[in-house]
Amino acid sequence: MTGNADEAWLRQQIIDTALAMSKEGLSPGTSGNVSARWAEGLLITPTGLAYDDLIPEDIVFLDKKGKTSPGARKPSSEWRFHLSAYGAREEAGAIVHTHSRFATALACARKPIPAFHYMVAVAGGADIPLADYATFGTGELADHVAAALKDRSACLMANHGQIACGETLEAALGLAREVEALAAQYVAVCQIGEPYILEDAEMDAVLERFKCYGQQDET
Ligand code: 13P
Ligand code: ZN
Repeated sequence: MTGNADEAWLRQQIIDTALAMSKEGLSPGTSGNVSARWAEGLLITPTGLAYDDLIPEDIVFLDKKGKTSPGARKPSSEWRFHLSAYGAREEAGAIVHTHSRFATALACARKPIPAFHYMVAVAGGADIPLADYATFGTGELADHVAAALKDRSACLMANHGQIACGETLEAALGLAREVEALAAQYVAVCQIGEPYILEDAEMDAVLERFKCYGQQDET
């Protein structure tokens, strides 16, 4: 492994995030993957390795064209959509992709999450969109993900799962948790009956309030 203390720290953070994702039941087995921007490229989990066994040297550096260094592990099969998502989301410093239960169920029914609850605005708009289907690991899927993330920081992926972006790994994992919670709530509401969908004006008001929610300064 080349690099410095900051890189070593980030490699460990990626492992810790992948472990948390896995232990919280947000992605079964070796499904899902985690990355963070680094040095004009990104650091990403290796493909097909159990998260429990990862050591910092297993995390793979990819340059902005997707090239790895000699001797590195094979990167996640989804490195193309991680690269395209960073292209679509300038502010993103980290990405978490999961096959979480309810987000995946909705994605397999090809149902995006509408504004059934105000918290849907957590992804930056009035819905959590659904990226079109393409085979995992392909450039076509990377294009669909980039299109779905154009105006949102998270999306579902048809017949696959979900992807969440954040400024930090903690924020990206937090958003993936929120998306899963919303997906579960939406499925529950649909079982009771027809969800009431908030109007665009209501969601605009929520988005406005989110700008100063929590400990942020009032503007
Ligand atoms: P990787 O093990 O290659 O990251 O694949 C997991 C996955 O979720 C593919 O979509
Ligand atoms: Zn996947």
